[in-house]
Amino acid sequence: MIERLVFGPVTSSRLGRSLGLDLLGRKICSFDCLYCEVGPTRVLTRERRPYVTAKELLAELGAWKEANRDLGLDHVTLGGSGEPTLNSELPEILQGAKRLFPSIPVAVLTNASLLDDPRVRDELGKADVVLPSLDSLVESEFKVVNRPRQGIELQRIVEGLKEFRSAYAGRIYLEVLLVAGINDTDANLQALEAFCQGFGADRVDVTTLSRPGAYPSALPVDKNILNRFREILGPGAKSMAPVAISDGIGHNYQARVGTNTEGKTLVGVEREETTQRVLASLLRRPQTELQLAEALGLDAEATAAALTALLAAGEVRRDERDFYLATGGARRKAG
Ligand code: SF4
Repeated sequence: MIERLVFGPVTSSRLGRSLGLDLLGRKICSFDCLYCEVGPTRVLTRERRPYVTAKELLAELGAWKEANRDLGLDHVTLGGSGEPTLNSELPEILQGAKRLFPSIPVAVLTNASLLDDPRVRDELGKADVVLPSLDSLVESEFKVVNRPRQGIELQRIVEGLKEFRSAYAGRIYLEVLLVAGINDTDANLQALEAFCQGFGADRVDVTTLSRPGAYPSALPVDKNILNRFREILGPGAKSMAPVAISDGIGHNYQARVGTNTEGKTLVGVEREETTQRVLASLLRRPQTELQLAEALGLDAEATAAALTALLAAGEVRRDERDFYLATGGARRKAG
């Protein structure tokens, strides 16, 4: 079975071994961030709908659990190809994930743009960990970095975050992602420092791009700037490596020699499966060959073979920094 909505476990510097759930199915978001690893936002909206139903997602999650009982997880993480709080069946999905994995904390990634809605705050309150992002408190920078949908106001996001913190007993890991020449300014640092001092995040993770973003103008900041923001946004700001949410699926499809009932060699079948898993991973975000191998638990040979096949089929391309990206054709096929 190739999972469509359940991916991982991925190795994440923020959440450890994390099983990802995609609540959107395609790029639907209230932001169109310059740095987004998923690519440009296709549907820019604030409208909450069951973009993926709780029924289909939980069925896939249940099947995953059956097939992978022995894989230790640190978190089950609601996120995916856009903003997960846009899914109006978030409460059912959260509840179902907790029912299926009662001993594993359930985390939600969010851009915080819907936190001005008391219903969304109430729904998110059921999660064990919430990871909101807040890249800039300077209005002009916020608009350039996050490219929000019209009508989304920074001030309302800030108020929503504070309201949420005041009522929520779980853990909040705030993320600040820095883009060179845009939100790495002193003005932003000072505003974030004042905010973080009063906010009460359990952790502040300052990160930068580790992969190509949605738009070429998104470039990582250098280590000095990263460290300066980390030092000042403490004491909650831990010194962490740039976020390395290495997407992928933890199955290790090692080739076994043999023949299945249809007469296809198992080696051939498993190569196809590996190729599809590599493509599924690249549809989520660009990665280097090494990042793919680590994320998917593949050996170098299997990764290279899958990439060669995908390049030949025109489903991926390699950029000048040796990142592999899914092509438009592959995205259209994936729907
Ligand atoms: S980075 Fe997150 S908030 Fe920004 S466009 Fe991508 S999915 Fe949306």
